[in-house]
Amino acid sequence: MDKLKVALLGATGMVGQRFVKLLENHEMFELAVLAASPKSAGKKYRDAAHWCLEGEIPESVADMTVVKADLEEVKKICEVDLVFSALPSEAARVIEAEYAKAGIPVISDASAYRMEEDVPVLIAEVNPEHLELVRKQSKRGWKSFIITNPNCTTNALALALKPLQDEFGIRSVIVSTMQALSGAGWTGVPSMAILDNVIPYIRNEEEKVEREALKILGRYDGERIAPAEFKISASCHRVNVLDGHLEAVFVELRSEASPEQVAEVMRNFKDKPQELRLPTAPENPIIVREEPDRPQPRLDRNAGGGMSIVVGRIRRDSVLKNGIKFILLGHNTIRGAAGNAVLNAELAVKEGYI
Ligand code: NAP
Repeated sequence: MDKLKVALLGATGMVGQRFVKLLENHEMFELAVLAASPKSAGKKYRDAAHWCLEGEIPESVADMTVVKADLEEVKKICEVDLVFSALPSEAARVIEAEYAKAGIPVISDASAYRMEEDVPVLIAEVNPEHLELVRKQSKRGWKSFIITNPNCTTNALALALKPLQDEFGIRSVIVSTMQALSGAGWTGVPSMAILDNVIPYIRNEEEKVEREALKILGRYDGERIAPAEFKISASCHRVNVLDGHLEAVFVELRSEASPEQVAEVMRNFKDKPQELRLPTAPENPIIVREEPDRPQPRLDRNAGGGMSIVVGRIRRDSVLKNGIKFILLGHNTIRGAAGNAVLNAELAVKEGYI
Protein backbone atom coordinates (compact mmCIF):
# COMPACT_ATOMS: atom_id res chain seq x y z
CA MET A 1 0.00 0.00 0.00
CA ASP A 2 1.15 3.59 -0.69
CA LYS A 3 1.95 5.41 2.51
CA LEU A 4 -0.63 7.90 3.77
CA LYS A 5 0.61 11.48 4.03
CA VAL A 6 0.40 12.80 7.56
CA ALA A 7 0.55 16.25 9.17
CA LEU A 8 1.70 16.47 12.78
CA LEU A 9 0.21 19.37 14.77
CA GLY A 10 2.13 20.31 17.92
CA ALA A 11 5.22 18.69 16.41
CA THR A 12 7.72 20.61 18.55
CA GLY A 13 6.35 19.60 21.99
CA MET A 14 6.93 16.60 24.26
CA VAL A 15 4.29 14.45 22.61
CA GLY A 16 5.09 15.84 19.15
CA GLN A 17 8.68 14.66 19.48
CA ARG A 18 7.52 11.15 20.34
CA PHE A 19 5.35 11.17 17.24
CA VAL A 20 8.35 12.20 15.15
CA LYS A 21 10.33 9.21 16.48
CA LEU A 22 7.47 6.73 16.07
CA LEU A 23 6.64 7.87 12.53
CA GLU A 24 10.24 7.65 11.31
CA ASN A 25 10.17 4.82 8.74
CA HIS A 26 6.58 3.86 9.60
CA GLU A 27 5.20 1.34 7.10
CA MET A 28 1.77 3.04 6.71
CA PHE A 29 2.42 6.75 7.34
CA GLU A 30 4.75 9.35 5.88
CA LEU A 31 5.35 12.46 7.95
CA ALA A 32 4.78 15.18 5.35
CA VAL A 33 4.06 18.34 7.38
CA LEU A 34 5.27 19.53 10.78
CA ALA A 35 3.12 22.22 12.38
CA ALA A 36 3.18 24.13 15.65
CA SER A 37 2.40 27.62 17.02
CA PRO A 38 3.07 30.87 15.14
CA LYS A 39 6.24 31.23 17.27
CA SER A 40 7.79 28.17 15.56
CA ALA A 41 6.38 28.74 12.07
CA GLY A 42 9.03 29.47 9.46
CA LYS A 43 11.84 27.85 11.49
CA LYS A 44 13.60 24.59 10.69
CA TYR A 45 12.39 21.77 12.95
CA ARG A 46 15.87 21.41 14.50
CA ASP A 47 15.71 25.08 15.59
CA ALA A 48 12.05 25.14 16.65
CA ALA A 49 11.96 21.97 18.82
CA HIS A 50 13.71 21.72 22.19
CA TRP A 51 14.70 18.17 21.28
CA CYS A 52 14.94 16.12 24.46
CA LEU A 53 14.57 12.49 23.41
CA GLU A 54 17.35 9.95 23.27
CA GLY A 55 19.28 10.04 19.96
CA GLU A 56 19.40 12.68 17.26
CA ILE A 57 16.45 14.33 15.53
CA PRO A 58 15.64 12.05 12.57
CA GLU A 59 17.45 13.36 9.45
CA SER A 60 14.25 13.20 7.42
CA VAL A 61 12.62 15.95 9.52
CA ALA A 62 15.49 18.00 11.00
CA ASP A 63 15.56 20.50 8.12
CA MET A 64 11.84 20.57 7.40
CA THR A 65 10.27 24.00 7.88
CA VAL A 66 7.60 24.15 10.58
CA VAL A 67 4.30 25.77 9.57
CA LYS A 68 1.34 27.11 11.52
CA ALA A 69 -1.13 24.39 12.49
CA ASP A 70 -4.14 25.92 10.73
CA LEU A 71 -5.63 23.93 7.84
CA GLU A 72 -4.96 26.65 5.27
CA GLU A 73 -1.25 26.79 6.15
CA VAL A 74 -0.83 23.00 6.08
CA LYS A 75 -2.64 22.76 2.74
CA LYS A 76 -0.06 25.08 1.19
CA ILE A 77 2.57 22.36 1.76
CA CYS A 78 0.54 19.38 0.48
CA GLU A 79 -2.77 17.54 0.70
CA VAL A 80 -2.62 15.23 3.72
CA ASP A 81 -4.64 12.05 4.34
CA LEU A 82 -4.59 12.24 8.10
CA VAL A 83 -3.61 14.53 10.98
CA PHE A 84 -2.05 13.64 14.32
CA SER A 85 -2.66 16.34 16.91
CA ALA A 86 -0.55 17.04 19.99
CA LEU A 87 -1.91 20.55 20.46
CA PRO A 88 -2.87 22.14 23.78
CA SER A 89 -6.58 21.69 24.40
CA GLU A 90 -7.72 25.27 23.66
CA ALA A 91 -5.97 25.36 20.28
CA ALA A 92 -7.15 21.81 19.51
CA ARG A 93 -10.79 22.77 20.03
CA VAL A 94 -10.71 25.14 17.07
CA ILE A 95 -8.03 23.70 14.80
CA GLU A 96 -9.00 20.00 14.93
CA ALA A 97 -12.58 20.81 13.92
CA GLU A 98 -11.30 22.63 10.79
CA TYR A 99 -9.65 19.43 9.58
CA ALA A 100 -12.54 17.10 10.43
CA LYS A 101 -14.96 19.45 8.70
CA ALA A 102 -12.79 19.53 5.59
CA GLY A 103 -12.66 15.72 5.34
CA ILE A 104 -9.30 15.03 6.99
CA PRO A 105 -9.39 12.54 9.90
CA VAL A 106 -7.83 13.73 13.14
CA ILE A 107 -6.26 11.44 15.74
CA SER A 108 -5.80 13.61 18.80
CA ASP A 109 -3.97 13.49 22.09
CA ALA A 110 -5.68 16.66 23.28
CA SER A 111 -8.55 16.58 25.75
CA ALA A 112 -10.78 19.06 23.86
CA TYR A 113 -13.24 16.55 22.35
CA ARG A 114 -12.78 13.51 24.62
CA MET A 115 -16.06 13.81 26.47
CA GLU A 116 -18.27 14.69 23.47
CA GLU A 117 -21.01 12.08 22.99
CA ASP A 118 -20.06 11.27 19.40
CA VAL A 119 -16.30 11.07 19.92
CA PRO A 120 -14.54 7.87 20.94
CA VAL A 121 -11.73 7.88 23.50
CA LEU A 122 -9.94 4.97 21.99
CA ILE A 123 -7.45 2.38 23.20
CA ALA A 124 -7.20 -0.13 20.38
CA GLU A 125 -6.97 -3.14 22.74
CA VAL A 126 -9.66 -1.99 25.15
CA ASN A 127 -12.61 -0.54 23.22
CA PRO A 128 -12.02 -1.01 19.47
CA GLU A 129 -15.80 -1.29 18.99
CA HIS A 130 -16.16 2.39 20.04
CA LEU A 131 -14.47 3.39 16.77
CA GLU A 132 -17.83 3.05 15.02
CA LEU A 133 -19.01 6.11 16.95
CA VAL A 134 -17.07 8.37 14.57
CA ARG A 135 -19.78 7.82 11.94
CA LYS A 136 -22.13 9.90 14.14
CA GLN A 137 -19.91 12.96 13.65
CA SER A 138 -21.31 13.44 10.13
CA LYS A 139 -24.33 14.97 11.94
CA ARG A 140 -22.05 17.92 12.84
CA GLY A 141 -21.67 18.59 9.12
CA TRP A 142 -18.13 17.17 9.20
CA LYS A 143 -16.87 15.18 6.22
CA SER A 144 -14.45 13.29 8.46
CA PHE A 145 -13.98 12.77 12.19
CA ILE A 146 -11.92 13.12 15.35
CA ILE A 147 -10.67 10.12 17.34
CA THR A 148 -9.28 11.04 20.75
CA ASN A 149 -6.78 9.30 22.97
CA PRO A 150 -7.20 9.16 26.72
CA ASN A 151 -5.22 11.20 29.16
CA CYS A 152 -1.87 9.44 29.80
CA THR A 153 -2.79 8.23 33.30
CA THR A 154 -6.16 6.88 32.23
CA ASN A 155 -4.65 5.03 29.31
CA ALA A 156 -2.46 2.73 31.41
CA LEU A 157 -5.18 2.33 34.04
CA ALA A 158 -7.90 1.34 31.55
CA LEU A 159 -5.59 -1.23 29.95
CA ALA A 160 -4.99 -2.88 33.33
CA LEU A 161 -8.67 -2.80 34.30
CA LYS A 162 -10.06 -4.21 31.03
CA PRO A 163 -9.18 -7.90 31.61
CA LEU A 164 -10.40 -7.62 35.22
CA GLN A 165 -13.70 -6.11 34.10
CA ASP A 166 -14.19 -8.86 31.51
CA GLU A 167 -13.24 -11.75 33.79
CA PHE A 168 -14.36 -10.79 37.31
CA GLY A 169 -16.41 -7.57 37.04
CA ILE A 170 -15.45 -4.35 38.85
CA ARG A 171 -17.36 -2.67 41.69
CA SER A 172 -14.92 0.14 42.53
CA VAL A 173 -11.44 1.46 41.78
CA ILE A 174 -9.13 3.70 43.80
CA VAL A 175 -5.95 4.95 42.16
CA SER A 176 -3.09 7.03 43.51
CA THR A 177 -0.55 8.20 40.92
CA MET A 178 3.09 9.24 40.77
CA GLN A 179 3.34 11.06 37.43
CA ALA A 180 6.40 11.96 35.40
CA LEU A 181 7.50 15.45 34.42
CA SER A 182 7.15 14.94 30.67
CA GLY A 183 3.41 14.56 31.30
CA ALA A 184 3.26 18.31 31.90
CA GLY A 185 4.84 19.23 28.55
CA TRP A 186 8.00 21.21 27.81
CA THR A 187 6.99 24.28 29.79
CA GLY A 188 5.20 22.23 32.46
CA VAL A 189 6.88 22.16 35.88
CA PRO A 190 9.79 24.48 36.76
CA SER A 191 12.91 22.65 38.02
CA MET A 192 12.90 24.77 41.21
CA ALA A 193 9.42 23.46 42.01
CA ILE A 194 10.06 19.76 41.51
CA LEU A 195 13.69 19.06 42.53
CA ASP A 196 13.75 17.44 45.99
CA ASN A 197 9.96 17.54 45.94
CA VAL A 198 6.59 15.96 45.13
CA ILE A 199 3.67 18.14 44.04
CA PRO A 200 0.38 16.70 45.28
CA TYR A 201 -1.80 18.38 42.68
CA ILE A 202 -2.21 18.19 38.90
CA ARG A 203 -4.91 20.52 37.62
CA ASN A 204 -8.00 18.70 36.25
CA GLU A 205 -6.15 15.37 36.22
CA GLU A 206 -8.26 13.51 38.78
CA GLU A 207 -11.50 14.53 37.07
CA LYS A 208 -10.12 13.41 33.69
CA VAL A 209 -9.04 10.01 35.00
CA GLU A 210 -12.38 9.37 36.68
CA ARG A 211 -14.65 10.29 33.79
CA GLU A 212 -12.51 9.00 30.91
CA ALA A 213 -12.03 5.56 32.47
CA LEU A 214 -15.79 5.09 32.76
CA LYS A 215 -16.32 6.15 29.14
CA ILE A 216 -13.57 3.91 27.75
CA LEU A 217 -14.77 0.89 29.73
CA GLY A 218 -18.40 1.68 28.92
CA ARG A 219 -20.63 -0.24 26.49
CA TYR A 220 -21.42 1.03 23.00
CA ASP A 221 -24.94 0.02 21.94
CA GLY A 222 -24.78 1.26 18.36
CA GLU A 223 -26.08 4.70 19.34
CA ARG A 224 -24.14 5.91 22.35
CA ILE A 225 -21.77 4.82 25.08
CA ALA A 226 -23.22 3.92 28.46
CA PRO A 227 -20.46 4.60 31.03
CA ALA A 228 -19.14 1.62 32.99
CA GLU A 229 -20.99 1.09 36.25
CA PHE A 230 -18.27 1.15 38.85
CA LYS A 231 -17.14 3.83 41.26
CA ILE A 232 -13.74 5.38 40.79
CA SER A 233 -11.63 7.77 42.84
CA ALA A 234 -8.23 9.17 41.78
CA SER A 235 -5.52 11.10 43.60
CA CYS A 236 -2.82 12.45 41.25
CA HIS A 237 0.72 13.63 42.11
CA ARG A 238 3.73 14.92 40.17
CA VAL A 239 7.10 13.34 40.98
CA ASN A 240 10.67 13.99 39.94
CA VAL A 241 10.85 11.36 37.16
CA LEU A 242 11.38 12.13 33.48
CA ASP A 243 9.06 9.61 31.79
CA GLY A 244 6.68 6.91 33.06
CA HIS A 245 3.63 7.26 35.26
CA LEU A 246 3.43 4.88 38.24
CA GLU A 247 -0.02 4.12 39.69
CA ALA A 248 -1.04 2.32 42.90
CA VAL A 249 -4.39 0.71 42.10
CA PHE A 250 -6.97 -0.82 44.49
CA VAL A 251 -9.83 -2.71 42.84
CA GLU A 252 -12.99 -4.15 44.38
CA LEU A 253 -13.97 -7.04 42.12
CA ARG A 254 -17.51 -8.36 41.69
CA SER A 255 -16.35 -11.94 42.08
CA GLU A 256 -13.49 -13.25 44.18
CA ALA A 257 -10.12 -13.77 42.47
CA SER A 258 -6.68 -14.69 43.74
CA PRO A 259 -3.61 -12.61 42.85
CA GLU A 260 -2.46 -15.53 40.68
CA GLN A 261 -5.73 -15.49 38.70
CA VAL A 262 -5.47 -11.73 38.25
CA ALA A 263 -1.88 -12.10 37.03
CA GLU A 264 -2.93 -14.80 34.58
CA VAL A 265 -5.78 -12.84 32.96
CA MET A 266 -3.54 -9.80 32.67
CA ARG A 267 -0.71 -11.81 31.08
CA ASN A 268 -3.08 -13.44 28.59
CA PHE A 269 -4.81 -10.20 27.62
CA LYS A 270 -4.65 -9.46 23.88
CA ASP A 271 -7.10 -7.93 21.47
CA LYS A 272 -7.55 -6.62 17.92
CA PRO A 273 -4.16 -4.91 17.46
CA GLN A 274 -2.41 -8.17 18.26
CA GLU A 275 -4.82 -10.23 16.07
CA LEU A 276 -4.35 -7.81 13.17
CA ARG A 277 -0.61 -7.59 13.81
CA LEU A 278 -0.70 -3.80 13.66
CA PRO A 279 2.83 -2.37 13.34
CA THR A 280 2.79 -0.50 16.68
CA ALA A 281 1.00 -3.23 18.68
CA PRO A 282 3.12 -4.74 21.45
CA GLU A 283 3.09 -8.53 21.66
CA ASN A 284 1.85 -8.25 25.25
CA PRO A 285 -0.14 -5.12 26.17
CA ILE A 286 0.32 -6.02 29.87
CA ILE A 287 3.56 -7.43 31.24
CA VAL A 288 3.31 -8.86 34.75
CA ARG A 289 6.46 -8.93 36.88
CA GLU A 290 7.00 -11.07 39.95
CA GLU A 291 9.84 -9.17 41.67
CA PRO A 292 8.69 -7.33 44.81
CA ASP A 293 10.30 -4.06 43.74
CA ARG A 294 9.02 -3.74 40.15
CA PRO A 295 7.80 -1.98 38.07
CA GLN A 296 10.08 1.04 38.29
CA PRO A 297 9.98 3.97 35.84
CA ARG A 298 13.68 3.92 34.95
CA LEU A 299 13.83 0.15 34.45
CA ASP A 300 10.44 -0.67 32.94
CA ARG A 301 9.03 2.29 31.00
CA ASN A 302 10.37 1.10 27.65
CA ALA A 303 8.80 -2.38 27.89
CA GLY A 304 7.31 -3.38 24.54
CA GLY A 305 8.86 -0.26 23.00
CA GLY A 306 6.94 1.84 25.55
CA MET A 307 3.64 0.34 24.36
CA SER A 308 3.27 -2.31 27.09
CA ILE A 309 2.21 -1.38 30.56
CA VAL A 310 4.00 -3.19 33.38
CA VAL A 311 2.12 -4.49 36.42
CA GLY A 312 3.65 -5.81 39.62
CA ARG A 313 3.01 -6.46 43.32
CA ILE A 314 -0.41 -7.99 42.69
CA ARG A 315 -1.79 -8.88 46.09
CA ARG A 316 -5.01 -9.12 48.08
CA ASP A 317 -6.46 -6.00 49.65
CA SER A 318 -8.03 -6.62 53.05
CA VAL A 319 -10.16 -3.44 53.21
CA LEU A 320 -12.21 -3.91 50.05
CA LYS A 321 -14.54 -6.87 49.44
CA ASN A 322 -12.86 -9.14 46.85
CA GLY A 323 -10.08 -6.57 46.97
CA ILE A 324 -6.98 -6.74 44.80
CA LYS A 325 -4.18 -4.16 44.72
CA PHE A 326 -1.24 -3.70 42.38
CA ILE A 327 1.26 -1.20 40.99
CA LEU A 328 1.28 -0.31 37.31
CA LEU A 329 3.59 1.68 35.10
CA GLY A 330 2.85 3.18 31.69
CA HIS A 331 5.09 5.28 29.44
CA ASN A 332 3.12 8.53 29.37
CA THR A 333 4.30 9.94 26.04
CA ILE A 334 4.37 6.57 24.19
CA ARG A 335 1.47 4.34 25.35
CA GLY A 336 -0.07 7.34 27.10
CA ALA A 337 0.02 9.62 24.04
CA ALA A 338 1.82 9.35 20.68
CA GLY A 339 2.11 5.55 20.54
CA ASN A 340 -1.53 5.03 21.40
CA ALA A 341 -2.51 7.55 18.70
CA VAL A 342 -0.42 5.82 16.05
CA LEU A 343 -1.90 2.45 17.04
CA ASN A 344 -5.41 3.91 16.82
CA ALA A 345 -4.64 5.28 13.37
CA GLU A 346 -3.35 1.89 12.26
CA LEU A 347 -6.57 0.29 13.48
CA ALA A 348 -8.71 2.91 11.73
CA VAL A 349 -6.86 2.28 8.47
CA LYS A 350 -7.14 -1.51 8.74
CA GLU A 351 -10.84 -1.28 9.58
CA GLY A 352 -11.50 0.94 6.56
CA TYR A 353 -12.31 4.18 8.39
CA ILE A 354 -9.36 5.99 6.80
P1 NAP B 1 3.96 20.77 24.93
O1 NAP B 1 5.27 20.13 25.15
O2 NAP B 1 3.68 22.03 25.65
O3 NAP B 1 3.78 21.03 23.35
C1 NAP B 1 2.69 21.76 22.82
C2 NAP B 1 2.78 21.81 21.30
O4 NAP B 1 1.65 22.55 20.79
C3 NAP B 1 4.01 22.52 20.77
O5 NAP B 1 4.36 21.97 19.51
C4 NAP B 1 3.52 23.97 20.56
O6 NAP B 1 4.22 24.67 19.57
C5 NAP B 1 2.12 23.71 20.05
N1 NAP B 1 1.22 24.84 20.30
C6 NAP B 1 1.05 25.53 21.46
N2 NAP B 1 0.11 26.50 21.30
C7 NAP B 1 -0.32 26.42 20.01
C8 NAP B 1 -1.26 27.14 19.23
N3 NAP B 1 -1.98 28.13 19.75
N4 NAP B 1 -1.44 26.80 17.94
C9 NAP B 1 -0.73 25.78 17.39
N5 NAP B 1 0.20 25.05 18.09
C10 NAP B 1 0.39 25.36 19.38
O7 NAP B 1 2.75 19.80 25.30
P2 NAP B 1 2.70 18.17 25.24
O8 NAP B 1 3.06 17.59 26.56
O9 NAP B 1 3.43 17.72 24.03
O10 NAP B 1 1.13 17.92 25.09
C11 NAP B 1 0.45 18.09 23.87
C12 NAP B 1 -1.01 17.67 24.03
O11 NAP B 1 -1.05 16.28 24.37
C13 NAP B 1 -1.75 18.39 25.16
O12 NAP B 1 -3.08 18.59 24.79
C14 NAP B 1 -1.64 17.42 26.32
O13 NAP B 1 -2.67 17.59 27.26
C15 NAP B 1 -1.75 16.09 25.60
N6 NAP B 1 -1.14 14.94 26.28
C16 NAP B 1 0.12 15.02 26.78
C17 NAP B 1 0.69 13.89 27.37
C18 NAP B 1 2.09 13.90 27.95
O14 NAP B 1 2.48 12.88 28.55
N7 NAP B 1 2.87 14.97 27.77
C19 NAP B 1 -0.03 12.69 27.42
C20 NAP B 1 -1.32 12.65 26.89
C21 NAP B 1 -1.85 13.77 26.32
P3 NAP B 1 5.43 25.71 19.94
O15 NAP B 1 6.64 24.89 20.25
O16 NAP B 1 5.55 26.49 18.67
O17 NAP B 1 4.96 26.53 21.11
